[in-house]
Amino acid sequence: LIDTAARASLRSPAALHRLLSALAVLEQRDGKLNSGSLSAITAAQKLGGSIHAFVAGSSIKAVAEEAAKVEGVEKVIAVENGAYDKGLPENYAPLLVENIKKGGYTHVIAGHTAFGKNLMPRVAALLDLQQISDVTSIENEKTFVRPIYAGNAIATVESSDVIKVLTIRGTAFPTAATAGGTAAVEDGVDPKVDSPTEWISEDLAKSDRPDLATAGKVVSGGRGLRSKEEFDRIMLPLADALGAAVGASRAAVDSGYADNSLQVGQTGKVVAPQLYMAVGISGAIQHLAGMKDSKVIAAINKDADAPIFQVADVGLVGDLFDKVPEITEKLSKA
Ligand code: FAD
Repeated sequence: LIDTAARASLRSPAALHRLLSALAVLEQRDGKLNSGSLSAITAAQKLGGSIHAFVAGSSIKAVAEEAAKVEGVEKVIAVENGAYDKGLPENYAPLLVENIKKGGYTHVIAGHTAFGKNLMPRVAALLDLQQISDVTSIENEKTFVRPIYAGNAIATVESSDVIKVLTIRGTAFPTAATAGGTAAVEDGVDPKVDSPTEWISEDLAKSDRPDLATAGKVVSGGRGLRSKEEFDRIMLPLADALGAAVGASRAAVDSGYADNSLQVGQTGKVVAPQLYMAVGISGAIQHLAGMKDSKVIAAINKDADAPIFQVADVGLVGDLFDKVPEITEKLSKA
């Protein structure tokens, strides 16, 4: 827990009136900066104060140097320690708290990703603060907009906490470019907490197709595909013809047609590509919560009354087993 003296100093009028300073928590994997996490810097820029970026892991130098190139970042705080490589929240949260206390930040921002969702509530709890999730707009230093009820209502929340601990929706803040900046890189504090949690291994789905979360085009299949074999036979050539990432509804994932990592929606990934094509997907609100901000939505469904057509810009009523191969063939020839 943050100690009493530190808490009192954070609450003092002087502390409350100090200049805004944000810490953007960036993600890395295998020594490479996750460019999607640079959205946290764009969000920090909206606040108008000073911006530091935070990175941790083994061989962190290259990641820190890349983050230092983002215009507007004053300093990159880097902690070199393999214990933080996988972003295990049990290890990472105490690390971040120590660095927040040292830096005296008013705002701490991470992406609303698996990493951010795992980490930031723990950070807020350790600081005895209220965390604010999935922010889509920053109105001012204490007012934030976030969707609730699977995106069916938009809440504007005002926080009176001395430090605002936020996760931001990546699709609402473009990633900051790693160009034009010359921030200094500084060693952060490493509390080297003796954690009982240890990283053992991971089993990652490998794909040459674009990453679902950041792809410009996404083709998603639903229960209408009927089986994994049909999902692969129909959806993969369509994805390749368009250069798109593959997504799926929860019904398709639960039925074993597609991998869990491909789920789009309230309990899956939130995407906002230029083109989202929904194939054999009814358009339940939980699915819409993950894709309705896409620029152009195209839907193929045999039921003209399917709710997906209410959000679709382009709709095709027909049997997907006829229509999709036809579209794929035309796209491949184009
Ligand atoms: P269905 O609703 O069964 O729709 C299949 C569609 O395919 C139908 O519209 C049908 O007309 C069409 N179809 C069938 N055959 C053909 C054909 N030959 N040609 C053309 N069209 C055809 N869902 C998500 O997707 N993502 C989530 O993250 C998610 N989170 C959830 C969280 C909670 C708490 C709950 C309660 C539910 C969640 N769901 C989520 C589930 C959601 O409510 C729906 O059940 C699910 O989205 C339905 O998937 P679907 O559209 O593929 O299946």
